[in-house]
Amino acid sequence: MSGKLYLVATPIGNLEDITLRALKILKEVDCIVAEDTRQTLKLLNHFEIAKPMISYHRHSTEEKGQEIIEKLKKGNSIALVSDAGTPVISDPGEEIVNIAIKENIQVIPIPGPCALISALIASGIDPKEFTFLGFLPLNKKSRKEKLEEIEIATKTTILYEAPHKLIVTLEDLKKVTNQRKIVLAKELTKIHEEYFSGTAEELLENLKEPKGEFVIVIDKCPISQENQFEDMSIEDHYKFYENLGYEKKEIIKRIAKDRKVKKDEIYKQFL
Ligand code: SAM
Repeated sequence: MSGKLYLVATPIGNLEDITLRALKILKEVDCIVAEDTRQTLKLLNHFEIAKPMISYHRHSTEEKGQEIIEKLKKGNSIALVSDAGTPVISDPGEEIVNIAIKENIQVIPIPGPCALISALIASGIDPKEFTFLGFLPLNKKSRKEKLEEIEIATKTTILYEAPHKLIVTLEDLKKVTNQRKIVLAKELTKIHEEYFSGTAEELLENLKEPKGEFVIVIDKCPISQENQFEDMSIEDHYKFYENLGYEKKEIIKRIAKDRKVKKDEIYKQFL
């Protein structure tokens, strides 16, 4: 009979956040698959757990994944962990989970810390519905598409970002979020945990050389559903963008895009 694949969440800073169940599973399994074995070794040493480890990271080959699946098929139980937080969430493991499901291997999540959830609940931004986009893509076209998605988001948006890319990302967000509130949750669960709140522009003024880990939580667009624009008079549509701080040329461009008509048609109506 196949072994079980446990997806074990580990702390994102404060080691006291490990759950009792996570410790129990880490002690019980035959081996631990870790994103970075040196990082996980520190955690295991702290809790006095000794276990064989296999490394599995973003650049691991398909064969490495297959090797782990074979171990499971032979009846070994395995705990998959990432460097911090919930594995698979912007971390390696998705492929192994998918193959395990196909092979009828039982996959069991062991819930615990996750940076996006901690940031959301402490941000004060509407937590009822949200979209998690992980890290924004670096590819220009895909990045532009994601930013356009954020621009008209009807729900709270959550992003992860590396500290050295935070300023560039805030510059990009400034172009699409205008006066919307953004909360940066820094170093969650750690000694220097801190929250910064404001528009992208205000955050850029206050944060010169960001250090540490950050989650970005963005408030939804005040009116954003495309079909709502269609129901609006063209004057209200114009006012909507004017209130967001856009210049006339940009407003005309946006109205034309929202209403799927040529810019000239909109210009004519405002002449
Ligand atoms: N799987 C992890 C989780 O469950 O949150 C996320 C891993 S992802 C590779 C790393 C990113 O998560 C960081 O760049 C940062 O955006 C966010 N992050 C992780 N730990 C954090 C912390 N303690 N405080 C703020 N953000 C954190």
